[in-house]
Amino acid sequence: MKKIALFPGSFDPLTNGHVDTIRRAAKLFDEVVIAVLTNTSKVSLFTAEEKKTLIETSLESIENTRVIAHTGGLTVELAKELGAVAMIRGMRNTSDFDYEYSIASMNKLQTNDIETVILLADEHYRFLSSSLIKEVAKFGGDVSSLVPMVVNKAIIEKYKHQK
Ligand code: ADP
Repeated sequence: MKKIALFPGSFDPLTNGHVDTIRRAAKLFDEVVIAVLTNTSKVSLFTAEEKKTLIETSLESIENTRVIAHTGGLTVELAKELGAVAMIRGMRNTSDFDYEYSIASMNKLQTNDIETVILLADEHYRFLSSSLIKEVAKFGGDVSSLVPMVVNKAIIEKYKHQK
């Protein structure tokens, strides 16, 4: 049976840290489905559709990946609908540990069938977060080495229009 993993996140925007996690997960599973989740309590820079397109373009070279946009509902339910056996998350530091541990424990309570697989962030990307990228890019800082090329272009465009 095909082993599918779900990688849920906000991806506002996708960073090279996310891409590294996806690349590594794609080696462990037959297919990795990246789900752009809309978090209603967070204001996002990119729309779900924009994020989806940016991720698809950035992941063109990783064949066994697919991107979907998803709003509402429990993430474990989405995982079940997709026939996923695992959910992928990344971990950069101890704050991530506390956060991810809570989510994984809550998800485990919802269903026993889906495992959370946590991949430790590569040392090059441990400091990297979507919010930090936005913070720097907003004031004209160069983030080109930290995000895929299309994402870099899209951020520059976004902030140009927001001025
Ligand atoms: P969420 O709002 O669900 O935390 P994010 O897009 O911020 O969505 O992150 C999605 C997942 O990717 C999380 O598990 C997060 O810990 C992980 N992640 C974020 N940045 C990195 C990074 N630089 N390296 C590895 N994993 C990361």
